[in-house]
Order: sequence, then C-alpha cells, then structure tokens
Amino acid sequence: MNVFSSDKLEQFLPKVKTILEENLFPLEQAYLHQSFSAVEPELNKVRGLIKEQDLWNPHLSEHHGGLGFNLVEFGQISELLGRSPYGHYCFNCNAPDIGNQELLLGYASEHIKSLFLEPLLKGDIRSCFAMTEPEFAGSNPVNMGTTAVKRGDHYIINGRKWFTTSADGASFAIVMANTNPGAENKYQRASMLVVPTTTKGFHLKRNISIMGEPNDTYFSHAELEFKDCKVPAKNLIGNEGDGFLLAQQRLGPGRIHHCMRWIGICERSFDLMCSRAATRDLGNGTMLGSKQTIQNWIAECRAEIDASRYMVLHTAQKIDEVGTKAARLEISTIKFYVANVLMKVLDRAIQVHGALGITDDTILSFYYRHERGARIYDGPDEVHKSTLARQILKNYGLNTNR
Ligand SMILES: Cc1cc2nc3c(=O)[nH]c(=O)nc-3n(C[C@H](O)[C@H](O)[C@H](O)COP(=O)(O)OP(=O)(O)OC[C@H]3O[C@@H](n4cnc5c(N)ncnc54)[C@H](O)[C@@H]3O)c2cc1C
Repeated sequence: MNVFSSDKLEQFLPKVKTILEENLFPLEQAYLHQSFSAVEPELNKVRGLIKEQDLWNPHLSEHHGGLGFNLVEFGQISELLGRSPYGHYCFNCNAPDIGNQELLLGYASEHIKSLFLEPLLKGDIRSCFAMTEPEFAGSNPVNMGTTAVKRGDHYIINGRKWFTTSADGASFAIVMANTNPGAENKYQRASMLVVPTTTKGFHLKRNISIMGEPNDTYFSHAELEFKDCKVPAKNLIGNEGDGFLLAQQRLGPGRIHHCMRWIGICERSFDLMCSRAATRDLGNGTMLGSKQTIQNWIAECRAEIDASRYMVLHTAQKIDEVGTKAARLEISTIKFYVANVLMKVLDRAIQVHGALGITDDTILSFYYRHERGARIYDGPDEVHKSTLARQILKNYGLNTNR
C-alpha cells in the first residue's frame, strides 16, 4: 500500500477497475467514432449500475450523500477514472459539474441548493461554468465585459462568453459577470449567478469545433450570448463582489482533479506505448522496444509520471490539511508540470505507434485532441510559471509587477 493510500481506498479502487474493464473499455472502440449524445444512453445505464453498487459521488462527504473520501484519496480515484474518457462522467464527478457541486455546497443559499444542486448531485441534470470571453484575455479575467445590473429583485445580464464546457444540454450555467464595476479593488467587481439555460435571453450560439471535432453535449465547448437575460436576485452565489474569491475556491481542488485525471491518461498511454514497443517487430525478430531511444522514452515517461503523482498527492495533502490558499504555489506548480508531462507521454506514445498512433483505431488521437487544452485552461502554463517564479524571486529581494 502506498503512503497516500488507506484501507477504504484499497477496497474501493478494485470496484472502479471492474466497472472500467467490464463496462467502459468494451464500448470505447465504437464510441471513438461517435458524438457524446450518441453514446449517452449506454453510459446512463452504466451510471445506473454505479448508483446501484453505491459507488456514486465518490468526491462528496458522507454528510452530502457521497463516499467520504478526502482529496488525497479522491485524487487516486480520479487517476483510475482518467483511464477512460467516460470514467468521471459515469461516477458523477466530471468537470465542470464537480467544481460547480463543490462551489454550491460551500457557498450557495438553501434556495439555490434545492433548485439546482440537488438534481445535480443525483445526476438528473448537468451544468456549466461561464467565465471566459472571446474579446478579453482569459488569463487576466478581471477585464471581463459581461455585466449583471440589479433592477429591483432581478439581475439583467448582457455579454458574451465562450469555451463554456458542456453548456450544450446543461440545465444551468454559473455565470461570472461584473456587478460592481466601480469597486476600488478590481477583484471585487464580479459576482457569480446561477442562470437556468431556459431563461429568455440565454443563447447558445454554437458548439466550437476543436481540431476538426465539433462534438456535442458533455464533450462540447460553447459560445454563449446573454441579451437582457433576467434572473432572480436570489440566484446570486454568496455576496456581490465575491466572484473571484469563489473562483479561487473552485479552482484549487479542481486542479487536483484535473492533474490526477491527466496522470490516469498518462498511465493508459504508457501502457499502450509499452505494449506496442514489446510487440512491434522491425524485422528479423528485432522488437521496437530493443532500441535505446524507445527505452529512454519509456524510462523517462515512467519517472515523470511517478514524479507527477507524488507532487500532486503531496499538494492534495496540503489542501486537506491547511486549505487551498496555503497550497497556492504547489497548485500552480502541478498545473503546468503535469500538463507538460501529459503532452510528452501522449506524444511519445503516438510516435511509438507510428502511423497507427494518429488514427482513431487507438484512443491516443482522441486524448491528443481533447487534452491539448490542458496547457491552456485553468490558467496557461506561462501564468502559473510566472506566479511560482515571482514568489521565489521575492525571497531573493526582487519584487516584480505583472
Ligand atoms: C478545453 C478548454 C476548456 C475550457 N473550459 C472553460 C469553461 O468551462 N469555462 C470558462 O469560463 N473557460 C473555459 N476555458 C477557457 C480558459 O479558461 C481560457 O482559455 C484560459 O483562461 C486562457 O485564456 P485565453 O484563451 O483568453 O488566452 P489569453 O489570455 O489570450 O492568453 C493567450 C496566451 O498568452 C500567453 N499568456 C497569457 N498571459 C500571460 C502571461 N501573464 N505571461 C506570459 N504569457 C502569457 C499564454 O501562452 C496563453 O496561452 C476553456 C479552455 C479550453 C482550452
């Protein structure tokens, strides 16, 4: 048992593995050539099975109807689930829903919880999170243009968003909008509001095509427009001006979830790479894996995946013990480090497969398309590196401005 494990986790992981092997991997080849909505009915059957076996909502506390794993334990579940593109969805712990669930649990009113959170926890609906805008640099979101103006007991929202993951088919969006543009502190100008997607003035303009794949529903990224979109004032999460504070709370554990999911993808790709290296005959019984370059790649990938796992679990432990704010630098470090390990492992696994690697006959090309964004979303590499380096340089007496 590794130092980050527990008896409870050791008993849980084999059950997850069985679901992956018996219910999800067999569907994969067929699914690689279809949109998410086409495979959804079959996946919903698997969700039913997971509920029946009491494996549902592994990320939540027992008090909230979950399984009571801490972040270190859930990180390891997330790694295993990452071996299938449908793993997190089937266990109801997929982004962006997981972040929205945690946010609403922590900060929403009872009114919002009963209307939006409860069906989300049951898996009856999906949600999305709309912050980034096409006209403004997402890496510095204080410049956003969307406004929510209070009129009586409503807010009127106007603006544009894009890259709103899973908006297609979602029942509600958590929308970041400027409510207090005059606030002196620029981090206190925005708020978060729950907006049902059926509200008049909420328009899904398109699912953005990514690397040749538009996809739909859960696997989509939408462009949204809000035109005099009117929501009750009681849909505000927390207080006016809390938007960035809440976004930080949402992102900390979210980066652990993403990083561990990426490590799961690395392990799956590594497995495929090694199997191919061990069986691809270059002629006269000389196997690909007998070449030193391939051996170097395998050794380096192994070391970097293991290093990533320890870094992420160490960060998760710090969040569990002292909270997200105190672990801010570790969170930035794992975000860029693991995203780059993911790129490297995926690229090498594809290279080892030769032409086969870029076909849709293996899952590698799907992961390559879907995960290139890892170095961009939740803060691009460069921003996280800068955060880390500036803090280090402070210890050497250099104070830098952004
Ligand atoms: C797959 C995917 C899913 C997403 N899902 C969501 C979602 O559900 N909801 C949502 O609101 N948003 C989502 N986003 C948007 C994401 O958060 C933004 O793309 C991200 O914050 C970067 O903003 P930008 O695209 O506007 O890039 P910009 O801010 O324009 O930056 C462009 C590039 O400039 C460089 N750069 C930026 N700042 C600095 C700096 N300080 N120093 C050095 N270089 C810098 C980086 O290389 C960066 O990639 C998603 C994005 C992707 C790719």
